[in-house]
Amino acid sequence: MLKKRLGKRFLFSGGLLLAICCGAGLAMATTLQPADFTCGLCGQKFSDQMVGSFSTGGGDSEFRPRYLGMNPLPHFVHTCPQCHFTDYSHEAKFSEAERKEIRKYLEGYCRKHNCSQLKPSQKYEILAHTQELRGLPPLKVAESYLRAAWMADDENNRLAAQRFRQAASQRLARALEGREVKEDLRPNLTYLVGELNRRTGNFTEAMQWFGRVQAPQPWLAALVKQQRELAARQNAAPAGMPAAD
Ligand SMILES: [Zn+2]
Repeated sequence: MLKKRLGKRFLFSGGLLLAICCGAGLAMATTLQPADFTCGLCGQKFSDQMVGSFSTGGGDSEFRPRYLGMNPLPHFVHTCPQCHFTDYSHEAKFSEAERKEIRKYLEGYCRKHNCSQLKPSQKYEILAHTQELRGLPPLKVAESYLRAAWMADDENNRLAAQRFRQAASQRLARALEGREVKEDLRPNLTYLVGELNRRTGNFTEAMQWFGRVQAPQPWLAALVKQQRELAARQNAAPAGMPAAD
């Protein structure tokens, strides 16, 4: 069981993985521990480091948590050394048709990339793409692409980060069109589509999405106001949260 502090502000998709914590609490450093996995795709047994504990303290305008200590994000996903299938737990079951399609994708991916040394952004890219092939909800896929973008930021790969932000934004917009997103999360995620558009330089779309945020909490209203002003000035730079009242 992961030990973590979850705040109420920025729960993204059911609170599983993407949350920013605010307020006082006992801070825990990020810890890793060895774990054994059986690849969900090919059955290969392998070992990897998994996250034992972590803490967050605030975040940025994309709701990226600020982790206290080492960044645990690269260690939430585990890549099979044999077939390079990447997943959180590797406990999902697949139909033969899904298995075939995922294998085909991975073979194509590994012809283009060095899969023996995948970067964290690439692991999240594989996760996102295979989640989509498995028919997982767009919100789940968006979360993986957003994490891929953050990892690409850390790897100083601007082109990849741009591509992953666009992919996350598209899936989030799709999720908001359907009934997947709970009512209390809709303002946050509508804002986030705007912010991802701003970060990728689509300022007109960003302004439109910011304008669709309905009944925001005061902290979100302040954030929307701040980011609208940046979009109006065609500023695509990373941004922090506005100061609390
Ligand atoms: Zn495998």
